[in-house]
Amino acid sequence: MSDQNCLFCRIVAGEVSADSVFQDERCIAFRDANPQAPVHLLVVPRDHIESLDDAAQKDEALLGHLLRVGARVANEQGLFESGYRTTINTGAGAGQSVFHLHVHILGGRSFTWPPG
Ligand code: AMP
Repeated sequence: MSDQNCLFCRIVAGEVSADSVFQDERCIAFRDANPQAPVHLLVVPRDHIESLDDAAQKDEALLGHLLRVGARVANEQGLFESGYRTTINTGAGAGQSVFHLHVHILGGRSFTWPPG
């Protein structure tokens, strides 16, 4: 399932370039083009799911996989000691701008809570 009008589907298909750090049969991880921290990665499922709100029961294993891949790439980027933030923006009101589910992994600086 992919959507020709979706930027992240086009990155998954190799039609738009991205600085990839990890790939497997279910997802890819690449550097955010507008990083908000020294390390800012996106973990993106290959299948087009618009947002967390659109994930179905059949996607439960995929959701877990995206989080585990996020932890793996965070550690590969050296964030083990400092920690990292894992974020999923759902809906425009929460800051989602690309409507293909993705997990942000941010690290390499300190973070405040609550987020802005
Ligand atoms: P969100 O606002 O949560 O939907 O996150 C979308 C993210 O995609 C933003 O942090 C953007 O900077 C990032 N982004 C947009 N276009 C690209 C691109 N071509 N390559 C990598 N990251 C991108």
